[in-house]
Amino acid sequence: MSVMSPSVRDQVLASLEQLLGDPAQVEQWFRKLDYHMGNDDRIEVFVPNAFFKDLYEHKYLGYLEEAFRRILGKPVRVQVQVAPNRIGFVAPASAATTAPRSPTAPAASAVVPSTEEYRPASPALSSVPTATGPASSRLDLEPAAATVHPELNPQYTFENFVVAPENRLAHASAMAVAENPGRAYNPLFIHASVGLGKTHLLQAFCHTLLHRSPRMVLRYLSCEEFINEYIASLQRKEIDSFRRTYRSADVLVIDDIHFLANKQQSQEEIFHTFNTLHNAQKQIILSSDQAPQDIPTLEDRLVSRFRWGLVATLAPPGIETRTAILRQKAEDMKSELPPGGISDEVVNFIATHVHRNIRELVGAITNVVMHARYTRQPITLASARESLQHLVDLQAPPVDVHRIQEGVATYFGIKTSDLILKKRGKSNISQARHVAVYLARHMTNMSQAEVGRYFGSRDHTTILNSEQTIAQKISSDPDFRTSIEKLKSRILSQS
Ligand code: ADP
Ligand code: MG
Repeated sequence: MSVMSPSVRDQVLASLEQLLGDPAQVEQWFRKLDYHMGNDDRIEVFVPNAFFKDLYEHKYLGYLEEAFRRILGKPVRVQVQVAPNRIGFVAPASAATTAPRSPTAPAASAVVPSTEEYRPASPALSSVPTATGPASSRLDLEPAAATVHPELNPQYTFENFVVAPENRLAHASAMAVAENPGRAYNPLFIHASVGLGKTHLLQAFCHTLLHRSPRMVLRYLSCEEFINEYIASLQRKEIDSFRRTYRSADVLVIDDIHFLANKQQSQEEIFHTFNTLHNAQKQIILSSDQAPQDIPTLEDRLVSRFRWGLVATLAPPGIETRTAILRQKAEDMKSELPPGGISDEVVNFIATHVHRNIRELVGAITNVVMHARYTRQPITLASARESLQHLVDLQAPPVDVHRIQEGVATYFGIKTSDLILKKRGKSNISQARHVAVYLARHMTNMSQAEVGRYFGSRDHTTILNSEQTIAQKISSDPDFRTSIEKLKSRILSQS
């Protein structure tokens, strides 16, 4: 991970302004955050505390991912992280300082202030220190953190987890382990691809365990955090204390254990931690994007240990499960819904079009609700379609770029070659070219560079410029938006 370059960051912020249609909102909510880029498709966004993490994950994840996709020219996975060194951050008393609610407590959305309530004078966000800055001196004043787990999202409870055939086994095993830690299945290994509920299930387990057995020493962290702490403890010559921390736990929960791939030394450390805990009948729960045997370079002795207990999977949700999850989310957001609520028709529309994973599903309904709140309009099929345009397009089967070029050329009454050749054309030709590029970016899976190759080797900034020109026009001119929609349907019907 490396700090994002200011130029990329500024472009992403500009793209967010376009998506949200509100520069002030971007200024207040996004400019002060820290953004880090990985070598893979991961972007980390650092926020001050667990409360903000929750807020961004629910309200802004879709916007962030779309903004990064547009600028970087490829799909990315945004992870919202609580910045280290911010434990002393002063958050609203009703939010971050609230202990995780018990699995039977009322809906957590009740403690999340609405964006309006939150926007005007949030001393919190405006005083965010930088991730690398010194920890606040308030740190010393905080109560002992032994039983407080700010790293747990209060909404990730069993109560909020919709049980369905795709996740029934994993859910039942996590519940069984919470009731009988160290005895039911050890380890419990939850395997599923991204956005299908691994973290939710792991944290639901933690909440229930802490509720039932508050004195148990629970360590919950991501594998990446484990590795970072391990390395830091080696550098600071504090490895003994590191080992004591993790090998003395009653329950160790490590999320995203596939991060062990290619980390030989950390694998060794996990191996010994695992043995110590397992021998003492202490519970271990792990989650991973890959099955143990598929994690690259994972030592055989770890593969076999990870399979000693139960490996439970979470499958992608079918349409019924997607609908049930949307209904539950709508219920959770009841207080935020505009008059008229959200109809079955809209729920069906989202469930049909957003099918890749549950994270996107949750992001989609949040987008729809936020959009309605900002425009102060009821939620209709048309408004839902509009606020999900980017996601829905992304998930539709990709269309051949030549079809798009032919469709646009016919529509504008020009030749396909006019779209490609680098000659100064009449204004309707350059308009048609902008539209064709915009549609190519929205109806195919191609990056800006790839699209550029189909349009006479134009570079990615030219492609970005076309995209932005059309996006701008679509948001300011309803007639133009309608013609683009018609053109799209025409291309789709001919594909
Ligand atoms: P993963 O860790 O597998 O990438 P997460 O646990 O972060 O996925 O889940 C992504 C989002 O989907 C979260 O907002 C989570 O609350 C929600 N989610 C996942 N599974 C369910 C479920 N069965 N019921 C309700 N919400 C779910
Ligand atoms: Mg996760």
